[in-house]
Amino acid sequence: MPSSDVPERALDDLLAAEQRRSVPPNLPEVPEHEVIRHYTALSLLNHHIDRGLYPLGSCTMKYNPKVNEEVARLPGFAQLHPFAPREAVQGAFRLQYELQEYLKEIAGMDAVTLQPAAGAQGEFVGVLLMRAYHTARGAPRSKILIPDSAHGTNPATVALAGYDVVTLKSSPEGLLDVAELKAHLDSEVAGFMVTNPNTYGKFEKRIVDIARLVHEVGGLMYMDGANLNAIMGVTRPGDVGFDILHFNTHKSFSTPHGGGGPGSGPVGVKSHLAEFLPVPVTVKDGDGYRLDWNRPRSIGKVHGFWGQFGLHVRAFAYIRSLGNTGIRETAQAAVLNNAYVTARLQGTYDLPYGRGLHESVFSGASLKRFGVRTHDVAKRLLDFGVHAPTVYFPLTVPEALMIEPTETETREELDRFADAMLQIAREAETNPDLVRSAPHTTPVRRLDEGRAARQPDVRYAPTSSAEAVAAR
Ligand SMILES: *Cc1c(COP(=O)(O)O)cnc(C)c1O
Repeated sequence: MPSSDVPERALDDLLAAEQRRSVPPNLPEVPEHEVIRHYTALSLLNHHIDRGLYPLGSCTMKYNPKVNEEVARLPGFAQLHPFAPREAVQGAFRLQYELQEYLKEIAGMDAVTLQPAAGAQGEFVGVLLMRAYHTARGAPRSKILIPDSAHGTNPATVALAGYDVVTLKSSPEGLLDVAELKAHLDSEVAGFMVTNPNTYGKFEKRIVDIARLVHEVGGLMYMDGANLNAIMGVTRPGDVGFDILHFNTHKSFSTPHGGGGPGSGPVGVKSHLAEFLPVPVTVKDGDGYRLDWNRPRSIGKVHGFWGQFGLHVRAFAYIRSLGNTGIRETAQAAVLNNAYVTARLQGTYDLPYGRGLHESVFSGASLKRFGVRTHDVAKRLLDFGVHAPTVYFPLTVPEALMIEPTETETREELDRFADAMLQIAREAETNPDLVRSAPHTTPVRRLDEGRAARQPDVRYAPTSSAEAVAAR
C-alpha cells in the first residue's frame, strides 16, 4: 500500500483532554457462539416440543411442521399492511378465500368466517349467530343446552351472550343421554352445544338422532371443533346435522400455541346462517378477491382488519401440504396412537369412560391409597423428559389425566411415555415420597403455582441462568 497522504495528527491536537474518554465504552462484548449458547441453555430450562412428547389432551399440543412457520414468515405475508390497497394484496385475499373453501369442505359447511381470534371467540360468534337467526325469525329464545363434560369456555360463552346455560348429565359411558336431552327440549332452546368427539374423546353415537330432536323444536346444533383432529377427513360435522362449528386452527391445523396465544377460531355455518356472519367476509369478485362489508344482517365486526392472518397462512400451508389423504391419515394416526398408549396404560390407571378416539381420560384415583395424587404423577413425569398431560379436566373425572399422544409421535416415543407412566405407578406403591417430592431433575422444583401465575418472574439473570433460577 502507498503511504497515507493525509497528515497524521495526534489525538491530543484534535480534542482537549477533558473531551476525551479515559476509559473505553462499557458495551456488551459477546461473541456469537456465547449468545447462541446462552439461548440454548435458556431453552433447556423449559420443556418444549423439540425436547420431547407433549401429551396434553383437549388443547392438542400437536407437532406443527416448521415449514408452516417459514411460510408465514415470508416477507410478502409477514409484512403485509392491512390498509394496503386491494390490488396490492390479491394473493393474501386469495389465500383466505381458498382456506375458507378448504374448511368448508373439511367440515361440510356452506360458509366460513376467518375473523374470530380463537376457539372461545368462535364460540361467541357462533352463539351470536344463533341469536341473530332466532331474532330474525321473531323469537330470540332463552337457553342453550350443554353436556356436563363440556370445556369451560362453552358455558362461559353462552352466559356472556346472555343465554341461560342448561347442563345435561352424560350417560355412564360418557356419551350424550337422549332421555336427558328430551327432558329439556322445548321452544325456548336456542341451541345445543357439544364437542364431538366429546371431552372424553368419545364420538357421540346418537348425534344424528340428537340433531333431529333439537331441530324439531327449532333449535340449532353447535359443534365445538377443538377435537376435529380425530375425525377430519373421516366424517363431516355438517353431514351429521351440525349448523355451526368453530375450528381451532391452532389445534387442528398447525400453529404453536399456549401461554395465551396465538389462536384463530374460524366459524363455519350452514347456508341458513350465512347472511349473519361477521364482516368483513373475503369473497371472490370476478377474477379477483375482496373484503365484503356490505352484509346488512351481519352480527357486525368481531376483530380488527382481516383476523389472525399469520395463522391463516399456517393453516393453509398445513392443509395444502397434507392434501386429501394426508388430512384423513392425520386423524387415523391420532386415533391409532391413542389406542396404543391407552392399551398400555389401561389396567394400571383407571379408565372410567373407556378408550377415546384421539385422547383418553384416565383417573389417578387408585393411587390415592398410597398418598399419591394426579398432580404428583404429572410432576414426576417431568423427570422423564415428558410434559405432563392435561390434569384435573374434565371435572367429572376424579384425579383426571387426559392424555392425547398426537399423531406424529413414533412408537418408540409412545413406549417411552407409557414406560414412564407405568414406572410412576409402581413408584407410587413402593416409594411414594419419591413421587410426592418430584420433580427432581428440573431446573426448578415445585413452584408455588398460584404465586407463579400472579407474580411471574421472567427477568434475565446475568449469572448462569440455571444457577440464578436454582438460587431463587
Ligand atoms: C381449547 C378448547 C376451547 C377453547 O378454544 P381456544 O382456542 O383456546 O379459545 C374450547 N373447547 C374445547 C373442547 C377446547 O379444547
